[in-house]
Amino acid sequence: MGGETVVTTGNQGTSSHLRPWHAEPAETLFSVLQTTTAGLTTAEAARRLKTYGPNSLPEPARRHPLLRFLAQFNNVLIYFLLMAAVAAWILGHYIDASVIVAVVTINAIVGFIQEDKAEKALTAIRKMISPHANAWRDGHRTSIPVAGLVPGDVVLIEAGDRVPADLRLIRVRGLLIDEAMLTGESVTAEKREGIVATDAPLGDRTGMAYSGTLVAAGQGTGVVVATGGETEIGHISALLQGVELLTTPLLRQINRFGERFTWVAITAAALLFAFATLLRDYPWPDALIAVVALAVGVVPEGLPAVITITLAIGVQRMAARNAVIRRLPAVETLGATSVICSDKTGTLTRNEMTARRIVTPDYALLVSGSGYEPVGDLTALDGDDDVAALEAAAPLIRSGLLCNDAHLRHADGHWGVEGDPMEGALVALAMKAGLNPEHVRAEWPRADEIPFDAQHRFMATRHATAASVSPAPTTPNHGTKHHHGDAIFVKGAPEALLAMCSAEATASGATQPLDPAYWSEEIARAAAEGERVLGFAMKHPEGTDQCLTFADVEHGLVFLGIVGFIDPPRDEVIDAIAECRSAGIGVKMITGDHAATASAIARQLGLASTAEVVTGAELDKATDDELRTIATRTQVFARTNPEHKLRIVRALQSTGAIVAMTGDGVNDAPALKQADVGIAMGRKGTEAAKEASEMVLLDDNFVSIVSAVHEGRTVYDNIRKVIAWTIPTNGGEALTVIAAILFGFTMPMTPAQILWINLILTVTLGLVLAFEPTEPGVMSRPPRRSNAPLLSQFLVWRIFFVSALFTIGALAIFFYALNRGLGIEMARTMVVNVVVVFEIFYLFNVRYLHMTSFTFRGTMGTPPVLLALAAVVIAQLAFTYAPFMQELFDTRPIAFADGIVIAGAGVLLMVILEMEKIILRRLQIFDGLDPEVVTVDPHQPATRKAG
Ligand code: ADP
Ligand code: MG
Repeated sequence: MGGETVVTTGNQGTSSHLRPWHAEPAETLFSVLQTTTAGLTTAEAARRLKTYGPNSLPEPARRHPLLRFLAQFNNVLIYFLLMAAVAAWILGHYIDASVIVAVVTINAIVGFIQEDKAEKALTAIRKMISPHANAWRDGHRTSIPVAGLVPGDVVLIEAGDRVPADLRLIRVRGLLIDEAMLTGESVTAEKREGIVATDAPLGDRTGMAYSGTLVAAGQGTGVVVATGGETEIGHISALLQGVELLTTPLLRQINRFGERFTWVAITAAALLFAFATLLRDYPWPDALIAVVALAVGVVPEGLPAVITITLAIGVQRMAARNAVIRRLPAVETLGATSVICSDKTGTLTRNEMTARRIVTPDYALLVSGSGYEPVGDLTALDGDDDVAALEAAAPLIRSGLLCNDAHLRHADGHWGVEGDPMEGALVALAMKAGLNPEHVRAEWPRADEIPFDAQHRFMATRHATAASVSPAPTTPNHGTKHHHGDAIFVKGAPEALLAMCSAEATASGATQPLDPAYWSEEIARAAAEGERVLGFAMKHPEGTDQCLTFADVEHGLVFLGIVGFIDPPRDEVIDAIAECRSAGIGVKMITGDHAATASAIARQLGLASTAEVVTGAELDKATDDELRTIATRTQVFARTNPEHKLRIVRALQSTGAIVAMTGDGVNDAPALKQADVGIAMGRKGTEAAKEASEMVLLDDNFVSIVSAVHEGRTVYDNIRKVIAWTIPTNGGEALTVIAAILFGFTMPMTPAQILWINLILTVTLGLVLAFEPTEPGVMSRPPRRSNAPLLSQFLVWRIFFVSALFTIGALAIFFYALNRGLGIEMARTMVVNVVVVFEIFYLFNVRYLHMTSFTFRGTMGTPPVLLALAAVVIAQLAFTYAPFMQELFDTRPIAFADGIVIAGAGVLLMVILEMEKIILRRLQIFDGLDPEVVTVDPHQPATRKAG
């Protein structure tokens, strides 16, 4: 990257070859970078992007493909198999040895390809939530991908953002930045405008904001001075994020299980070897090869790869439904979620605000129109005069326009908002009242502001009126002596504002004492209709000093009135909430909004019938013990702040609940981290919230959470199915060999044949279960217990039962063939075929753990199932009838009638297993022990039966 002007001049910097922007006056900054406070044009930015390259750090290098391939062999199971191959080779069993090596290699290739695919898919999905920055382009504030920033861009940063590039700050409002990752300093750095000494260390350069550091509070505007690898963080390669490993607790559990299993297999094999040679007089090479085959057959070497694939597919399906997983373990946890705590605005509602009601001390007005289109009428209620009412509301409407950062954008016949939707609605309101936003904002230039924060729930701005402006009809009505003076406008939660006011403004332009009773009545009236209520106030500050502090707004404000906004609930959320109810998942609304508004929306959503609302103030009074009861019982929490969210999560978790929690602000991070599944908003969420979360919603929609839970349950089901299907094959093979050795008859399968079965089945049928669609009714059972073991009692029973059936079937066919004098080779061929046929039928049974498989849907199968089935059948026909296979595996062509017998055995197995399902359900044998047989109690969503 060759940044001539920007990077190479001024080498006198302390720590790097960057120009010491922290010590350069602002004029130099703008002239060298050839930019202005209004930012760059799109064309200029595009040109610079060519010169400087994208604003991104080089991706951490992936391991060499060969190394990743070899890593597939780095596993106890594989060592064990390779040792077996060597043993077979030495004993002269060349075919067995080759088949073992082939199995191991094919397994590694499948694992390698699948892991690669999964990693790429996850990276692609993660890119869906790549961060954006607020930059000035073509004179407009626009959201652009961080990678598109170039030196000279003017960027806005606010609480919760990651600083997108190295910035020289030109405007700062209470800006605190956490620079720990660069300086190691744990206290947030307070930023200021202006320069510091050239040799100031990084941590003291108060006029700079460095790429990758986190904005903890406040706002700022800065000019990009370095991007990509030229930034401070770009020089510290150690900070490059490594590739996240593809692992989850479940996967680790299975790997551990596999390893332990291997040691058990080795020990058992040794014992069996001793038994065969000492007590059964087997020649030791035969015994060794049989025992090796047994051990090889018993090891589920393909299992970890299949489970990785299952998880990756789950992640992809979730992404397709607007839920992006940031941390893989969340895929598992989602399936166990028992409570979802959700924000109201934007998640349960559409976040498309329209101002509907204005109330001033003397008048009430209704506003018509919908969306952000600035077309609509303001009509006085109670038969009052429209003109007089509008006149009285004018100061309120104007302060709503000035204490505001949003812009309306008209494009393709559609009005949209750039910025906060509620503020956008205030701009539309002002336009409906006949104001021109550009003009009014130019007339009242903003000098300073206190940004909105969920903690204090208001926003304030300070304005200087340009002296040249003559008093228009829209200038303040009160006290003429302040006509050209400064003004402070405040908007926020009405209760917060009323506490800061001492008077209210009357229509005549005078002030009168505040009438709290009147206001609480009016607020309650609006809130009861589900309106979001915002209060407005103003004052003329005494001093001429242009700063705005909390002390300036704490008291002495004049209350102007309130505005009620409608924010319609999302229609689709109603169904999603009903679905949660049937799925035994509790839904709780946690909002910063007014209790009455929250309650009205909750009722509209069918969330709560009684709509008992607990407020943040009540939560503050509750002890941790009381909170546990309150949190479990209550569905709607109002006027909460982010700390309440954290306490609610903790309280719910202490009752054993698995909690999913949404959040968007920087202060939500602790609650998101604490939750079992932290969910950040993709659109309105801050970078801080996203980084603290496990999952990001692309559309901010509650429905996407429920979809993700749905997919999470499917993933878990599919993993159980993979296990339930895989292990009995190994079990059946092993038991057959053990029986042969114990009872001293000829091996029903040669080692090579056992390996053949493992080989063709793991790469075909074993994989299809990963792609299984959701079983019907997945959302009509309660969440699984979080501590439920993967191998539930039902699964353990299943594994033993099916292994036994496999053994009985295999031996029955074996002796049937021997008795008919078909010869040992033919008998073995038939055994291999019957085992494979069993696996096919058993697959159809396992596809529905929760219901019968004898349905149209159950017998048809999915494309992956049918494809795998075709592959297995072709492979099996080749195995039986192809001459070279007959040579290799010592097989014989099976007569048609015997083929029918084998298929009939498969059907019989299917019938037995379906009967088992019915009997178990009737007798409720595993009731309460297994997720699929626990009865749903709709009234107790968050509690589950003790196991
Ligand atoms: P929610 O849970 O609905 O997202 P917030 O924490 O965003 O709640 O907001 C809580 C309250 O703060 C709102 O009811 C409103 O009264 C006030 N408020 C929200 N946004 C702004 C803003 N931009 N300026 C001033 N006040 C605001
Ligand atoms: Mg909000």
